[in-house]
Amino acid sequence: MTLTKQKQIQIVVNCTQCGSPFKAPEGSHSFKCPFCSKVLLITSPQRILKFYMNTRLNHRSVKFVTERYCKRSGIDLPRSFDDSRLIYIPFWRFNGMIYQLRAEAVTYTFSDGATLETEKKVKVDSKPFDINFPGVNQDLVNQIIMGIRSQVMELHPQLPPKLDKDADIIKPEITLDAAREMAYSNAFGVYRRKNVCYEELIGEKLTLIYFPVWISRFTNKTGAQWLLLDGVSKRGLACGQDEFRGFHSNGDFDGVGSIKILPHHCPNCGADLPAGKNAIVYTCQNCWLGWYLDGDRLRQIEIDYVDPGGDKNLKFFPFWEFGASFNSRGSILTYHQAQMLFRSKLSVFVDDSEDAIFRFFVPGFSARNPRSLWKLSSRLTQSQPKFTTSQRLRFSSVPATLPEDEAAQMARAIWFYLIFGTATNSFQSWNENSEVPEVNFHPGKLIYLPMKEEGIYLREQFTGFAVQKRGIF
Ligand SMILES: [Zn+2]
Ligand SMILES: [Zn+2]
Repeated sequence: MTLTKQKQIQIVVNCTQCGSPFKAPEGSHSFKCPFCSKVLLITSPQRILKFYMNTRLNHRSVKFVTERYCKRSGIDLPRSFDDSRLIYIPFWRFNGMIYQLRAEAVTYTFSDGATLETEKKVKVDSKPFDINFPGVNQDLVNQIIMGIRSQVMELHPQLPPKLDKDADIIKPEITLDAAREMAYSNAFGVYRRKNVCYEELIGEKLTLIYFPVWISRFTNKTGAQWLLLDGVSKRGLACGQDEFRGFHSNGDFDGVGSIKILPHHCPNCGADLPAGKNAIVYTCQNCWLGWYLDGDRLRQIEIDYVDPGGDKNLKFFPFWEFGASFNSRGSILTYHQAQMLFRSKLSVFVDDSEDAIFRFFVPGFSARNPRSLWKLSSRLTQSQPKFTTSQRLRFSSVPATLPEDEAAQMARAIWFYLIFGTATNSFQSWNENSEVPEVNFHPGKLIYLPMKEEGIYLREQFTGFAVQKRGIF
């Protein structure tokens, strides 16, 4: 199991109109073909996707690389080449963001040795993770994974047409469920810290990546030899005598699909939708309906724009807004109930005279520093702002990139944050048994809130709360 820093990964796609291949950064959902300007949408018919890495070797160049390897390693040069085989080895990749709530007390030590422990406070940590592990339990594979780490990854949804007949695709021995389990326990294990009272993976994604290796078989004066080559970097990985017995099994793997590229137009009126890289919500500029990319289809979604009043100097940021039920009684969480559950964590300025529905707010946009998103989310939720909204956007806006289900996971983390934050003294009991009421979020709606740039800050216009701009852009 290896942990890598998140790096830029490119997906290589083919335009459905002109057929040209081009690269899109991982996480892109819509874009314009640079060759014919067709607007395209990347959809995911299945939750777990598979990709192939391209090999830079072919049967001819394998011979050359084999000779070079023999020279450098002091192995007798080949007298004859027997054959070369292209093999695709499966790897699982698991990436996303981990959020942890930790209860921490600070201990002061006085000059006479006496100590004083402060009341526990809930702190939030967030870290990206990116884990690769082999899909087969074979010794050689562990050497290959080093190769994966050192390379710029270019992922292809399909095998190159010239190679699809030629390649042996090794079926993962580690099944989908086992891979998922390993991924989860490792993601949590990597950031094992003390005093964690709640943790949540957000935006976690499991991907099957097929990595190309070549087996070059040749004969030299000592007899039959084989050499295993990294198909991307062309490095030699391992060699041995006699028959190669490294990999076997053949076939494909169920439950894993490939991305599909479709024309990107409004399902209602047919107009092209705006291309927005990693945006997953699109507003049709012709009929003004809002569309949400849900797996392999666009589903209509309610979008509200908050009326900012007279100020024109604003940028609009998307937030998911959720109502919730708790304790599986199906009772809708009202502001009044929230105040009893969260007590001191809510803003005192909120008018609780009416039995209004308590709303959770989660930023739907990407930010450089997840902490900024967390601050905005908890602050807005604690403040329960009231807005007047309209159905059309008249100002520039930031793309919505966070899927609804992930936003709901974040809302759940906020729920625990508010509850733990209130229960600072009886913290251990919250932690050790599951007294925390279970919460269920209702379908979300998207709301665009105005923010204003003020020097190094970006100020949310309803709570007046500001985050540093560099945390966002
Ligand atoms: Zn094109
Ligand atoms: Zn339309």
